[in-house]
Amino acid sequence: MGLLLKIFIPLLGAALAFYFYSGSENFNEEMLRGKRVIVTGASSGIGEQMAYHLARMETHLLLTARTEAKLQKVVKQCLELGAASAHYISGSMESPSFPEEVVKKAEITWGGLDMLILNHIGYSESNAFNYFNGDVGEVRKLMQTNFLSYVAMTTSALPMLKESEGSIVVVSSVAGKVASPFVAPYASTKFALEGFFNSLRHEFIIEEVNVSITLCILGYINTEKAVRTISHVIRDSPAPKEECALEIIKSGALRQRELHYPPWRVKSMLLLRDIAPDFLDSLIRSRYQVEKVKR
Ligand code: NAP
Repeated sequence: MGLLLKIFIPLLGAALAFYFYSGSENFNEEMLRGKRVIVTGASSGIGEQMAYHLARMETHLLLTARTEAKLQKVVKQCLELGAASAHYISGSMESPSFPEEVVKKAEITWGGLDMLILNHIGYSESNAFNYFNGDVGEVRKLMQTNFLSYVAMTTSALPMLKESEGSIVVVSSVAGKVASPFVAPYASTKFALEGFFNSLRHEFIIEEVNVSITLCILGYINTEKAVRTISHVIRDSPAPKEECALEIIKSGALRQRELHYPPWRVKSMLLLRDIAPDFLDSLIRSRYQVEKVKR
């Protein structure tokens, strides 16, 4: 028994260390110098922070979101921080033609593309799903913005990414791996990303397409919008958006399959989901101040 424990405990320790290991120390900023990168949802939050990190790494940037005035400010700041070049295109991903316009602009400006960072999301509140009257319209709209536009941008950018043997980085959420209450439309779009991009990764490998796909599974991050939307209903402290943005860039540059950030919180949830799903669900529900949720 003693001998078994002596063998089992270090083995368990090694297995856990491996499970929680991120591997991001192999990252070097040189990997991104001079690369041509599109960042969507770059006018605020995590997207804005990614733009600043990438600018410091001397990349060429094309930023997009709806609000032109904010994009102009971010572009100016990126140029001051050392971006090799910085451009923007404003528009809404609710429009079925806009994703292609963004990719076209990259093609006209640079004649190629190395990294596509898909990060934008349309606005959704943390509300009980209105299943009596049906919020189907909201789900449909969010599917267009949060999911279909990601597919459309990937499709348009693929010829350039194949040529450069580049990377696709998809910013998703733990809400796309483990269901939470009061985010049904948002969670549906994130689960859809998971299905689409994991399937596509298989096909790239089968067809020998050397384009990496990184899915970023994020927990609660302290962006203004997220804090405003959920801080009154969830008992949790958010992780910093600046560090989160850097980890996303590292994982994309290292062509990792998945990023889990903040690592301990996300990885523990994924482990519990597989070994004790009912326990995890009750933990998730216990974090909510249900009386404060709008019905
Ligand atoms: P955010 O601060 O709300 O930023 C969203 C970005 O998307 C903004 O630049 C916004 O700019 C743009 N956007 C909104 N509607 C759009 C539309 N219809 N068309 C084009 N662009 C639009 O979001 P965030 O918190 O940084 O989140 C970034 C990513 O991280 C998202 O994919 C999100 O799901 C994921 N994530 C975040 C958290 C968190 O706690 N913050 C947790 C898990 C996952 P405009 O308003 O100017 O268009």
